[in-house]
Amino acid sequence: MTARVLVVDDVLANVRLLEAKLSAEYFDVVTAMNGVDALDAVSRTKPDIVLLDVMMPGLDGIEVCRRIKANPATQHVPVIMVTALDQPEDRVRGLEAGADDFLTKPVNDVALFCRVKSLVRLKMLTDELRSRTSGDPLRILQSELAEADKAPANILVVDNGATLGERIRNALAGLHKVSVAQTPQEALEAFGGPPVELVIVNLDMEGVDALRVCSQLKSVEQTRQTPILIIVDPEDRPRLLRALDLGVNDYLMRPVDRQELLARVSTQIRRYRYTERLRTSVRASMEMAITDALTGLYNRRYLETHLAEVITHAVNRGRLVSVLTLDVDFFKSVNDTYGHDAGDRVLQELAGRLRAIIRNSDLACRTGGEEFVVVLPGTDLHTAERVGERVRKMVAAKPFLAAPGCHLSVTISLGVASLLNVDDTPEDLLKRADRALYRAKREGRNRVSLSAA
Ligand code: GH3
Ligand code: MG
Ligand code: MG
Repeated sequence: MTARVLVVDDVLANVRLLEAKLSAEYFDVVTAMNGVDALDAVSRTKPDIVLLDVMMPGLDGIEVCRRIKANPATQHVPVIMVTALDQPEDRVRGLEAGADDFLTKPVNDVALFCRVKSLVRLKMLTDELRSRTSGDPLRILQSELAEADKAPANILVVDNGATLGERIRNALAGLHKVSVAQTPQEALEAFGGPPVELVIVNLDMEGVDALRVCSQLKSVEQTRQTPILIIVDPEDRPRLLRALDLGVNDYLMRPVDRQELLARVSTQIRRYRYTERLRTSVRASMEMAITDALTGLYNRRYLETHLAEVITHAVNRGRLVSVLTLDVDFFKSVNDTYGHDAGDRVLQELAGRLRAIIRNSDLACRTGGEEFVVVLPGTDLHTAERVGERVRKMVAAKPFLAAPGCHLSVTISLGVASLLNVDDTPEDLLKRADRALYRAKREGRNRVSLSAA
């Protein structure tokens, strides 16, 4: 993972130390030695994360953090406060100022890279979501994300001891819903219900191999996306490293500090939610690429690729394929008389009727304004003609609701064509069906016409 890290500290030796550690892991490091320069560097160098010393003369770290988080242009940049071990109250002030996490001096490598990687990944997700929106929608997205961050999450604690679950439940009371699984089996079962957005695993369970539990959760499809936080003993460094290798997302050292718990829980939940959101948005844009927005039927582009596949498939199995092309009769007059919106509603209702009448294996597409194509795999010409006749009747039989109280009689004309030989292309097939459709129009509309050849 490469990312730009801004290191802010008024002590040069501290800056150099962090710079050396991060550069060795190929992070791109920029530095600042006071609050004013830090704010300048945030807007100028656009870091992916800021490591911010709390105690600095002049503008201190808390104030710098507050300003980064108050500025809409920079508020999505994660901030890790670097606090002195003997100043625990700095953590509370840091959280209040909007800090995303903490590190304690002297900074330990595992903690440093774990925190930085978790938050940089979250930043990348946020950037990806932001890049899909801009201008006004970006503001809406930002406030939606902030709102979503506040919603209570379902958290699962995996522990067979008596106290951890209860302690975490108390620490997160009023913020999140915490349930406890006593066994690995119960943990997996918990995924059957509402989405689990974070799993907290006690690495030191009596008689249970917690590393195996983590590895199972990270390998099963259903649970893989859910972040895992582990609770470890300070002296258990080897197992901590193995857990991180298994894909555990972050950890908390015992004794668990409430502020650290809050910060890490919040980062991981956001990570889960942003990933889900991104997935939904990718799915939506993929659907948009293949479907028609007005009717939800497949679009012409999808038809062209899909029809080629259907033909190949059919040819390989010695089966037939037929297509219906259909076009609404005198549709222009619907628009001219009742308006474009009424026309749209007729098209939507027509799509709905088509969808209801065809088989699952058939494919209905809107290929143009009031033109549709239905692909009928495994269907010969005469069966396709009967299907076409059914569709024609289904349209003509019942008026369409074009506007509240406005019922319109609509008819369609159809052309039918079938695959003739192995060299038939999608274009050949559609062209023949179209020629048949024009004949149906010429011969008086509201009829089905067969392609002769
Ligand atoms: P014919 O019986 O010969 O098919 O006559 P027609 O009026 O249906 O044919 P024509 O192709 O002349 O007109 C099609 C009309 O469809 C023209 C256009 O305004 C309308 N149209 C195209 N796309 C849309 C759309 O998305 N919504 C609406 N409401 N109308 C559309
Ligand atoms: Mg028409
Ligand atoms: Mg037309």
